[in-house]
Amino acid sequence: MKAHDGMYIDGAWRPAAGTGTIEVVNPADEQVIDRVPAGTAEDVDAAVRAARAALPGWAATPPAARGALIGALRDVLAARRQEIAETVTAELGAPLTFSQRVHADLPVAVAGSYAELAAGHVFEERIGNSTVHHEPIGVVGAITPWNYPLHQIVAKVAPALAAGCTVVLKPAEDTPLVAQLFAEAVHEAGIPAGVFNLVTGLGPVAGQALAEHEGVDLVSFTGSTAVGRSIAATAGAAVKKVALELGGKSANVILPSADLGRAVATGVANVMSNSGQTCSAWTRMLVHTSQYDEAVGLAAEAAAKYGDRIGPLVSARQRERVRGYIEKGVAEGARLVAGGPESPRERGWYVSPTVLADVTPEMTVAQEEIFGPVLSILRYEDEEEALRIANGTVYGLAGAVWAGDDGEAVAFARRMDTGQVDINGGRFNPLAPFGGYKQSGVGRELGAHGLAEYLQTKSLQF
Ligand code: NAP
Ligand code: MG
Repeated sequence: MKAHDGMYIDGAWRPAAGTGTIEVVNPADEQVIDRVPAGTAEDVDAAVRAARAALPGWAATPPAARGALIGALRDVLAARRQEIAETVTAELGAPLTFSQRVHADLPVAVAGSYAELAAGHVFEERIGNSTVHHEPIGVVGAITPWNYPLHQIVAKVAPALAAGCTVVLKPAEDTPLVAQLFAEAVHEAGIPAGVFNLVTGLGPVAGQALAEHEGVDLVSFTGSTAVGRSIAATAGAAVKKVALELGGKSANVILPSADLGRAVATGVANVMSNSGQTCSAWTRMLVHTSQYDEAVGLAAEAAAKYGDRIGPLVSARQRERVRGYIEKGVAEGARLVAGGPESPRERGWYVSPTVLADVTPEMTVAQEEIFGPVLSILRYEDEEEALRIANGTVYGLAGAVWAGDDGEAVAFARRMDTGQVDINGGRFNPLAPFGGYKQSGVGRELGAHGLAEYLQTKSLQF
């Protein structure tokens, strides 16, 4: 696609207020592929004004009609699948088949789910002598990261629109092209002017201006815990609602009765997928001491098989960060059994699929989010220790439990402090609420629970 040199505000591409630009770089070959405008507070202000002006009309549009327009958006995204996949591959570096199957198809599924949920949601209920109306919370400021760039946009914009809110989006600076493509799709779908607005730009400039803007009623943010904390503080001071999807350090708990081969293979695939740049990745594998050596061998083999199939990391900065973590893990006593900190290629921001064994719970690599293709394998003596390790981080986004039968796995999963657990390889469900316990976030995305985040109640008594 060709990059736009303006912002999508009030239904049209408008020149940016300033002259700054952001270079978009292909992580696979480090070449500049395009430039987009770097928005300023002035652009954000224009976008928020457009969203405010469009709010009464959109909020008053019958939910079924909003759902029909979200359905039209779904259809445009589906029709432009190949272009979306190629764009994500170019700016994120993901292998094309993964871009098609996940980066392009998942947003289609999520948009489709909100086309239906908008039409079917109960926006009014009777409680005793009251009628309770579920009304849109207002103008949403959405700030998204680069790791699932279109999914994270759709997971905020689709439910917000279904709820009757209007939106200003500030996408990640590393992946602005697919965000522009999304704005084109919104336009093509016939969603009214001002309902969705896009301001590309840098986090500390455009992102901060959006989070601080008094015309924004709810800030929905996905990204690092550090930035999330500061956004929540700003919003708190203004008594504004926030939704935060932050980091994770999820545990993949393999109980002794599990099918070890399947649990390890699925666990490695989970961590290496998207080059490890997945907030819900099971980056800590917990194995019983009796099966530990076998699991390490299987994981090393599985990681080595990934070899060339893995894409690069999004940026040189991310690659350096991930290499630093691998070195730190080894320095703190972990044993490198696959991959390592050396770059496997001369060009592109690649890191080899890496497995660290003999990781102990207090090590940095067992506590901090690495956001790269790095798996840590920890040992436990009994179930109570497994639980202590699984719950022993500040995060609680996802996880997995494997056991001989689902009942045993469920009993363990119910004791985990985390928002999502896959039982014996359960599949991702785009209708199930997604979000974190503890410092992994506030609020939930996806499905009916994701829609409810964008509503507030008004009770009328009779
Ligand atoms: P980030 O800095 O938190 O970025 C997320 C979004 O927030 C981006 O759009 C970013 O803009 C924006 N932003 C940055 N500073 C801001 C500020 N002061 N005010 C408002 N918005 C601001 O995350 P990142 O740099 O992309 O990645 C850093 C780490 O965050 C990763 O290594 C990973 O650990 C974690 N992460 C988590 C997730 C997740 O899904 N939970 C996703 C991505 C990253 P810019 O693009 O211009 O920075
Ligand atoms: Mg950043």
